[in-house]
Amino acid sequence: MTDAAHAAMWERLDLDIEAHDALLAVLGKFYGDIYLSQQGRLKGAEYLDFVLSEVHGLRIKEIQDAKAAGKKVVGTFCVFVPEELTLAAGALQVGLCAGAKAGTEKAETLVPRGTCDLIKSFVGFKLARLCPYTESCDLVVGETTCDGKKKAYEAFGEHVNMHVMEVPQCKGPCDVDLFRAELVRYKDALEALTGNTITAASLAAATRRVNAKRQALQRLAKLRAADPAPISGRDALLVNQISFYDDPDRFTAKVNELCDEMEARIAKGEGVAPKGTPRLLLAGCPMAVPNWKLPYLIESSGAVIVGEESCIGERNTRDLTDETPADLEAMLDALAARYMKIDCACFTPNDERLAHIAAMARELKADGVVHYGLLFCQPYANEAMKVGKAMEAAGVPYLAIETDYGMEDAGQLKTRVEAFVETLS
Ligand code: SF4
Ligand code: SF4
Repeated sequence: MTDAAHAAMWERLDLDIEAHDALLAVLGKFYGDIYLSQQGRLKGAEYLDFVLSEVHGLRIKEIQDAKAAGKKVVGTFCVFVPEELTLAAGALQVGLCAGAKAGTEKAETLVPRGTCDLIKSFVGFKLARLCPYTESCDLVVGETTCDGKKKAYEAFGEHVNMHVMEVPQCKGPCDVDLFRAELVRYKDALEALTGNTITAASLAAATRRVNAKRQALQRLAKLRAADPAPISGRDALLVNQISFYDDPDRFTAKVNELCDEMEARIAKGEGVAPKGTPRLLLAGCPMAVPNWKLPYLIESSGAVIVGEESCIGERNTRDLTDETPADLEAMLDALAARYMKIDCACFTPNDERLAHIAAMARELKADGVVHYGLLFCQPYANEAMKVGKAMEAAGVPYLAIETDYGMEDAGQLKTRVEAFVETLS
């Protein structure tokens, strides 16, 4: 696509062209500094570079073409929205979680100042007309996970066509029933939006596609147990981030190619950092594009990240949906069972998350765990303390970081991360 074709498409989407150009310029520079400066990247990383360079270009063109052909686009903010149902209805699903400080002033006219940057970012992107994904959506699906999000959706819903799913906060049998009822309500909303009926056959096919994507990501996650690490944490995070934007089938094929290359690299004993480099597991809040600050600080401090315990990471890919049920009702049961395993900090109690972090640290041979909490995020700030105690009990060195999307604290964070890495060396 030419620059003129890009610009014409963004104008049709009613983006603020000047502000959007400025955002892309900053994103390009940031990507160059953080990604293209890495040594020893996999050849398959060219796919990541291409997708990122066209994240507001070719992918948006594909989405617009699909819309012109009659498809509907659904935007989401949370891994509780089942892509299986969205695809089964013949719609496209895209992640809208924004990871940049943009449109903050405008966002603070709609949500309180003491709101986490993830929420302020998606609100700001909408109000400042910066996100071609948001502007492409026919339906935006929110969920009642944390208080910040569910109240923000009331205000956000005045600007977009919104459907909010109730996500329970506990995991008893009645909570699973409640979530299953919400799946039916979402299914009905999708059918009304698309005019398509979700059948057992369409849901089975969609479940296989989504499971294939998760299996490719599981394969990649397991290969990171090798020492030396075959892929940087930054690139692995980007793979997970792209999983929310790219076409699911193309994404699955590309990630499997990346895994083939990683296996060949492991067989030769090669990696992105020398054997013995301190290995860290990142745990906590999801990191949406282009929230790469902490991974960059860690990996430029002499450590390598070997796993992400996050929704843009293993929390989203750990569990597959059972493919064996043959009728629609049993398939909805299977979906409810699968999604209610997600160990988001919004649940109480949520002790399985502590066990998952300890298991990941063990399996990935991590030398330490860094917990990342977004400023003003109550659920993860509370759990950061419990994770700290659990890591102490397991004898795993631990560092808790709380930050936002700004760069003001980068120097101070780097000092803390370097001191932590030093203790592991
Ligand atoms: S951390 Fe919780 S609220 Fe956020 S995306 Fe994950 S499941 Fe959803
Ligand atoms: S980071 Fe925390 S406060 Fe922000 S949306 Fe996620 S769970 Fe809610």
